[in-house]
Amino acid sequence: MSDLSVTELVAGYGDARVLHGLSFTVAPGEICAILGPNGAGKTTLLRALSGMVRGRGSVRLGGTELTGRSPDTIARRGVAHVPEGRGTFMPLTVEENLRLGAYVRRRRTGVDADLDRIYTYFPALKSRLRQTAGSLSGGEQQMLAIGRALMLRPRLLLLDEPSLGLAPLITRELFRIVRAINEQERTTVVVVEQNAHLALGIAQQAHVLETGRIVLSGTAERIRADEQVAQSYLGYR
Ligand code: ATP
Repeated sequence: MSDLSVTELVAGYGDARVLHGLSFTVAPGEICAILGPNGAGKTTLLRALSGMVRGRGSVRLGGTELTGRSPDTIARRGVAHVPEGRGTFMPLTVEENLRLGAYVRRRRTGVDADLDRIYTYFPALKSRLRQTAGSLSGGEQQMLAIGRALMLRPRLLLLDEPSLGLAPLITRELFRIVRAINEQERTTVVVVEQNAHLALGIAQQAHVLETGRIVLSGTAERIRADEQVAQSYLGYR
């Protein structure tokens, strides 16, 4: 049984087609890594899953068809998208940003309890509640963006390049927290990452994208272990 089921997904911008019929599934509670070079279409894939880019084909979450629905409706169905560049509101405080994350929720009860739950994952945010998001470090801003997404109580968390611009130590800590969230909340995660090594370290499954097509799929363990794959597709070792 899969939680996310993507079938023959085609998407792009105007006449420019970027995704040429992607198909893959993600099992409930699994972490799926999407890897590949710049311009392969990874960001476009996440945008198509969250409805920010119109797609054709089928995207199903827990059996419910999402294709053609608005980003708002898709968010209400439990898809939280943390975009590249994070998308936090810089002039607002940490707490205001987090509370905004609960905005599209149907039921508003439990917001304070959810805030407390998020502080257990990100204690650094708790000590900075009244500070503006703009005053936070890059790593804290990424934590805030993920925290805000969690306020949606998502069934599916989409993360676009969470490591971008962060120091290696901070990135490792962030990935450790993503893994903890996935384990404790049973949230299904799709993570797009340039740092293949880190993403494969927390994922169960991975897909490598090239020019809008999946050129390789497998367990994270297998992809990580295969030297040739690592060299030809992921550019390391
Ligand atoms: P990166 O790691 O550089 O973000 P990516 O794999 O996420 O790469 P996308 O950002 O999805 O790739 O881009 C795929 C293609 O779509 C690229 O050719 C890009 O120029 C194009 N593209 C991306 N965003 C837009 C847009 N808003 N309008 C038109 N074309 C776009």
